[in-house]
Amino acid sequence: MKFSSYNLTPQIKGNLEGLGFKKPTDIQYKTIPPIMRREDVLAIAQTGTGKTAAFAIPIIHILQTTPAREGHGNVRCLVMEPTHELANQITEVFQQLGKGTGVFSSCVIGGVDQAPQIKKLERDIDILVATPGRMFDLISQGHINLQSIEILVLDEADHMLDLGFIHDIRQLTKIIRHKHQTLFFSATINEEIKDLAYSLVNKPVRIQLSPNDPVSKNIDHSVAFIEMDDKRFFLERIITEHPESKILVFVRTKVRAERVFKALERVNIASLTIHSDKDQKERFEVMKQFKEGIIKILIATDVSARGIDIPNVEYVVNYDLPEVAENYVHRVGRTGRGTKKGIAVSFCSPEEKEVLDEIQGYLTKDITVMAIEKELYDETVAISEASEHDWKSLIEEANSFEQKKKKKGKKK
Ligand code: ADP
Ligand code: MG
Repeated sequence: MKFSSYNLTPQIKGNLEGLGFKKPTDIQYKTIPPIMRREDVLAIAQTGTGKTAAFAIPIIHILQTTPAREGHGNVRCLVMEPTHELANQITEVFQQLGKGTGVFSSCVIGGVDQAPQIKKLERDIDILVATPGRMFDLISQGHINLQSIEILVLDEADHMLDLGFIHDIRQLTKIIRHKHQTLFFSATINEEIKDLAYSLVNKPVRIQLSPNDPVSKNIDHSVAFIEMDDKRFFLERIITEHPESKILVFVRTKVRAERVFKALERVNIASLTIHSDKDQKERFEVMKQFKEGIIKILIATDVSARGIDIPNVEYVVNYDLPEVAENYVHRVGRTGRGTKKGIAVSFCSPEEKEVLDEIQGYLTKDITVMAIEKELYDETVAISEASEHDWKSLIEEANSFEQKKKKKGKKK
């Protein structure tokens, strides 16, 4: 079903068209109707499946088509986000989808001057996107009043818990005592998240996409066994074979990020790095260049990547495997977003086999192997042809690498 046949206001439909959203993603298809019916919703879907629009579309529609509830509050809908970057990103989505609807969205986050945020709160706000710290500050200063909240959204709930915001969320439910609609969105689910969710929602519609596979079906992901010292060679190969593609490369440490950057520089490939040694301004600049595609290769450590939506990343390369198994899902989730397809490949050196086992344990399944052993090549070619990837040359490389190794062995 296309968005054009949905019961949405013409302004929202126009904005969806402008963004190039023709039909809903799976999670949007399932959550939009119950949200429009004003039910509580508990939605679990992998990263990149379009959860933001899954709540933003029906919320804007509801707020545009119904009058505000009577009360002393100055906010109709509150959306909680774990990080500043995400809060900014989600506000932007609300503003894009809400253009011309008269539904007004604003954002409050810490780390920046509060005065402009307070200025915006002087008028009533339809949708307030917030991180916990600044929001509680502004509540205690009397600039935010949640007494007439109609909809509460907890987005990226798993990330919220990881960052230790559980107390803040509980605090929030003490402030909002009156009846309201609660929407709970998370990429992963475990007992802790379940407990939290069920303490917040009331007889929710529960929606979960492919619970057995934390990696979205849009992502074709595999592992290639490569010696540590040969990784840069394979990376170079992937890059030169996909000159038009935006490639996100993950490494274990910031030192390694700079090393990979230099290795690429030596073969005349321009790239960018992002890690904790760069300040907020530098990071922002790097993200901008990568988003706009000015530089197509970004080398990153785990810190900077979670939840952030970068358009059109075709490839994710795990140059090093992530040490925290869960980060595998977050890393590969940077590609194959929305209705797009994506490819992820992980380089696994013999030293990293244990880490790989852990990741596979977390996924509860094995990752497809881009095998380097000769007898598995033919099979790999078959897989690659089936999924239209150009793995052939990579495999040829692997072949010659194997032969080199054999030669070396003979010399010894
Ligand atoms: P999640 O929160 O599930 O990780 P996001 O809400 O950030 O995912 O969405 C991921 C990407 O999918 C974004 O780039 C968004 O623009 C895109 N997207 C969302 N819905 C659609 C749609 N219906 N059609 C096409 N692209 C979409
Ligand atoms: Mg999200």
